Amino acid sequence: MKFKETLTDRHIEEQKILKKYPKIFKQASGKVTETCMCWGLDCGEGWYQLIDILCHQLQFDIDHNKQPQIEATQVKEKFGGLRFYTNGSTDRQDAMIDFAELVSQYTCERCGTMKDITQNKNGWIKTLCRKCRKEKK
Ligand SMILES: [Zn+2]
Repeated sequence: MKFKETLTDRHIEEQKILKKYPKIFKQASGKVTETCMCWGLDCGEGWYQLIDILCHQLQFDIDHNKQPQIEATQVKEKFGGLRFYTNGSTDRQDAMIDFAELVSQYTCERCGTMKDITQNKNGWIKTLCRKCRKEKK
């Protein structure tokens, strides 16, 4: 690292996932002009575990079932749900990604719980549990 940067816990967790799946997150070290993946995991850390599970399944399937190696091109939150964009995926891979995106809509983006989830729609949708929504205010 050229410059000193204080890493927050969130960044440390994010880096762990990006490094755990170097093939899927190959573009994470790309330039801003080349890939949106340079922004890293652009969502709350409550979804990191979900992303971890998704990537584990995808990579396992790639390695054992002759699926093509895909690369994530952007991972972000949109309309209260996870968006996991790739450079092209098979129907099988799409199904896994779709399911993870669906589950994210029932998972607090801040703490990861699946209990007491609410989606507020005043202006923008944010998927949070009742407790996190209170604390955020
Ligand atoms: Zn929460």
